[in-house]
Amino acid sequence: MWQEVTRAVNDTTNGPGTESAKLSSLQLSRDDTDGLEDAPAPRVRFPTPPPLDHHGPARIIGIVNQKGGVGKTTTAINLGACLAELGRKVLLVDFDPQASLTIGLGIDPLSLDGSTYDLVIDPETTAEDIRVKTCVDGMDLLPSDISLSGAEIQLVSEVARETTLSRELEPLRPDYDFILIDCQPSLGLLTVNALTAADGVIIPLECEYFALRGLGFLVDKTIKTVQQRINPKLRIEGILATMFDMRTVHAREILEEVVERFGETVFHTIISRTVRFPETNKLGEPITTYAPNSLAAEAYRQLARELLSRL
Ligand code: ADP
Ligand code: MG
Repeated sequence: MWQEVTRAVNDTTNGPGTESAKLSSLQLSRDDTDGLEDAPAPRVRFPTPPPLDHHGPARIIGIVNQKGGVGKTTTAINLGACLAELGRKVLLVDFDPQASLTIGLGIDPLSLDGSTYDLVIDPETTAEDIRVKTCVDGMDLLPSDISLSGAEIQLVSEVARETTLSRELEPLRPDYDFILIDCQPSLGLLTVNALTAADGVIIPLECEYFALRGLGFLVDKTIKTVQQRINPKLRIEGILATMFDMRTVHAREILEEVVERFGETVFHTIISRTVRFPETNKLGEPITTYAPNSLAAEAYRQLARELLSRL
């Protein structure tokens, strides 16, 4: 299926005379007010899933990439919001001391009673103690603040240090359909905790060369090691092309390489580069409320449907 998509991407960019291929193969559309570069629309339209008659047990998904600035936090916020739109109960876990997820949802880390730092360091603190509601109905948050940066060193001397987060999240499974953990850009002990707690991972990938090199390390080494040593059930839910710029040959080539190597592991949904996302960070809300009719919001809705179709 992916082969057709990449072929179609090339058809659209290999010079004149391909206009009809562009429209029919890729279903490209443009919203001029959106500031969005076009991405190939997935060949498959993923169906809207039926509503649930009960919630839980949650699937825990880590959003992981050791590279910073690739769209992990943006994916956590917007995939979470789109799953909530589909009636799924979602818990976001901010597991990055930079607290971008917390701030990106309009919550001031300085105003918190507790954070994921307390959760993993203080045996008395439970997830319920630090849990807050977000501006999205059906989506809660375990917020973070800068103190989490000290947790990595403090955890080193703990017994069963890799399983701390897993133990804390386990009791919440019945309350939610999805728990999304936003990881920090490193493969240290906090990320290993997230990979140990998770059933699956989503790997956002900016389509550029260094990112591709890092992807091999993440998949072949880190995830495999965690699977072999601690968490055999961990699977890759999908690799997500983010900040895709259709106009550059480089981005298209990298996407092709990723698809060649990882095949159907790569989500058919592609997230384009658009200024809409930085704008949402400033306002502290997801794209689904900031620009509900934009292509950017639609892309994350499509991702939510594709994820559900894979489970
Ligand atoms: P990470 O969590 O991997 O460090 P972020 O999600 O914080 O990455 O994104 C880094 C920056 O890029 C943020 O300013 C964010 O608003 C912006 N960004 C994320 N996704 C996109 C996109 N598709 N197009 C343009 N900018 C984006
Ligand atoms: Mg982040």
